[in-house]
Amino acid sequence: MIRSTIIKRLKENKFDICIIGGGASGFGCAIAAFEAGLKVCLIDKYDFGKMTSSRSTKLIHGGVRYLAQGRIKLVREALKERKFFLENFRNTKRQSFLLPCYSWKDVFKYRVGLGFYDILSGRYSLGPSRFISRKRAITLFPQVETKGLKGAIEYFDGQFDDARLLLDIAKSLDHCNVPVISYVEANGFVKSNGKIVGVHCFDSVNDQSFEISAAVVINATGVLTNEVLKLDDPNAKAKIYPSRGSHIVIERSHFKGDHALLVPETTDGRVLFAIPWQNKLIIGTTDQKTESIDLDPKPTKEEIDFIINNFNLYTKSNIDYIDILSVFSGLRPLAIPEEKKAAKDISRNHKISMSESGLVHLIGGKWTTFRQMGEDTISFVFKNKAFKEKQNKKLIFIQSNYEKPSTGAKPLNETSIYTWDDIRFAIEHEQCYTIEDVLARRTRVLFHDVILAKSIAKEVAKLLSKKRNKDDVWVQDSIQEFFEIASNYTTCHLKERL
Ligand SMILES: Cc1cc2nc3c(=O)[nH]c(=O)nc-3n(C[C@H](O)[C@H](O)[C@H](O)COP(=O)(O)OP(=O)(O)OC[C@H]3O[C@@H](n4cnc5c(N)ncnc54)[C@H](O)[C@@H]3O)c2cc1C
Repeated sequence: MIRSTIIKRLKENKFDICIIGGGASGFGCAIAAFEAGLKVCLIDKYDFGKMTSSRSTKLIHGGVRYLAQGRIKLVREALKERKFFLENFRNTKRQSFLLPCYSWKDVFKYRVGLGFYDILSGRYSLGPSRFISRKRAITLFPQVETKGLKGAIEYFDGQFDDARLLLDIAKSLDHCNVPVISYVEANGFVKSNGKIVGVHCFDSVNDQSFEISAAVVINATGVLTNEVLKLDDPNAKAKIYPSRGSHIVIERSHFKGDHALLVPETTDGRVLFAIPWQNKLIIGTTDQKTESIDLDPKPTKEEIDFIINNFNLYTKSNIDYIDILSVFSGLRPLAIPEEKKAAKDISRNHKISMSESGLVHLIGGKWTTFRQMGEDTISFVFKNKAFKEKQNKKLIFIQSNYEKPSTGAKPLNETSIYTWDDIRFAIEHEQCYTIEDVLARRTRVLFHDVILAKSIAKEVAKLLSKKRNKDDVWVQDSIQEFFEIASNYTTCHLKERL
């Protein structure tokens, strides 16, 4: 990925499709457009996945919660995609979940519900769900709350590393000569007779403006959809609203074993997950309607209390603020419904629409179904635009060419899975422009342990400055900027320790 070459190609070519947004939705569209034989490019204002797509719960799932809400089509679609994920992408794995039951009525209810999940999975099943006795549940889940425990239901879903997957896809597309580029903002549209024929862009790495010509432009900008909509038509009605979901990250020792926990009914009627992820445990999430679209949203104290309390209700771990290593929030781009509903009740189905100007919008959906969402969007484009016939190409998903050294590399600290080799590789080969790119998405140090991330920020800034030919002022500014970002991954308790 040589930046100057990509920009040259963006300037000099006429594309069939230009995608604005390098999150799951945008990359889903890019894969589908490439596979349909279209000439496609993709731009992102920040780093790929900077916004929602690096802040998910890391689940590849049909969605047991959606099943309870009767969203059968959404669940079926996701179960099919789940299988594709596990078979085609690295950094993904099958994950066993245990749902503890405290009454026989619950055993019956959840056994039947998850049995239905199995039926819907059909040939895409990851293994049948089953009832597990109280004794076995306690063996598998040493810290589960035993008072009144009747047993547990085990079922399977998938798990992945969201930000790394985006990068793998970006590399795969790049390998097939599809121009995909970060830090290029769409800040206006080129129009002819009221129809969009291109995008005005700003490259914030080189401080330069340029234009991309494209027959169709897709707006896949997640929670920034409304902003892009307004670039096209200042009077356009908002299409999405954000809902914040928050997580806390703690050491695995608080919840031993390889199984994830599903809390079937939280105090606000949602589900809550505690999932072993890499060598930590992620617990979340919440669903909080919010007015503000922060680039780095932060969990509120109420959300953290909610997560801790609900986790402690189902376990003997008795965790508190002192145990938290990092916190993170993401904003769900939810399609505005016709009637007023609570965030937790709004459909996660994706929606595709087109403005008068021809701007195509993809909104809603979820990570698990990103590929299907992309295919639906490109089919929509074919229906509405006289492109030549679809081809049937296949994108070969390449893996990172980085092999971790098996011996000798020292971890960043005694509990980190990352080494300085990982950091150096990211800086050298993986298009990093900020400390956050390195520590939040190429490696996930900021998500694992905010204190560790802050402690190595200076060294990372120095390595980056060498790669990018930057001076000491840049190093200082970068550290400052990173500390501000990191403050959104901390709780009041962590702040005291920093
Ligand atoms: C807390 C939480 C947990 C979740 N957990 C799961 C889960 O476990 N499993 C699952 O399947 N789904 C999950 N989801 C849903 C999933 O993460 C989202 O549906 C998905 O990431 C949204 O991707 P997106 O591409 O639409 O948005 P984003 O990831 O936000 O991408 C939009 C991109 O557009 C770019 N952009 C914006 N404006 C411009 C512009 N003017 N020019 C250029 N680029 C621009 C942004 O920089 C951004 O990178 C979760 C969501 C949340 C919030």
